[in-house]
Amino acid sequence: MLKRILIVMLLSLPLVAWAFFKPVRILAPELAGVTCINEHICIDDPSRLAEASDLYQSALQFVASSISEIERPPRVVFCTTEICNESFGFKAAANAIGTFGIVISPRAWKPYYLRHEMIHHLQKERLGNFRGWLVTPNWFIEGMAYLLSEDPRPELPEQLQQYRSQFATWYQQVGKEQLWQEAAKL
Ligand SMILES: [Zn+2]
Repeated sequence: MLKRILIVMLLSLPLVAWAFFKPVRILAPELAGVTCINEHICIDDPSRLAEASDLYQSALQFVASSISEIERPPRVVFCTTEICNESFGFKAAANAIGTFGIVISPRAWKPYYLRHEMIHHLQKERLGNFRGWLVTPNWFIEGMAYLLSEDPRPELPEQLQQYRSQFATWYQQVGKEQLWQEAAKL
């Protein structure tokens, strides 16, 4: 009996994750109601595909030329409604789920938002999902994303403002060439 209960529990784990940990839906966005045009772009309103593709290509090129090339470009879900964003479990304007993908809300269809999330993708690609999530300090992760995405906001909420200037000071000393080597030591 116990064995049977265990088997049922194990089999239902993916379903439980699907229902309660919504970001896991990035693994199969089509089941969450968006259309995946190719392996990189999913969208809930295909009539805005051209705009989404432009944002994607320019963010990818921007990150490659200003920081380093992304080895495996991320899947990005472009949501044109908040309902779509929430169906992935998000309230924030944009989110990167490790190297598994990025979800963009209707508020984040702006070049610097996508650049910011692609930088998070690159960080996890270079530092590892586990290390980048649990070990690397927040001032590096967020400070780098805000500074190097060229976010135009002169004042960010307090903590983020501090992260951005802390990263700027560190980056000035370390330089582009040593960026990942030094980041891995943080
Ligand atoms: Zn961020």
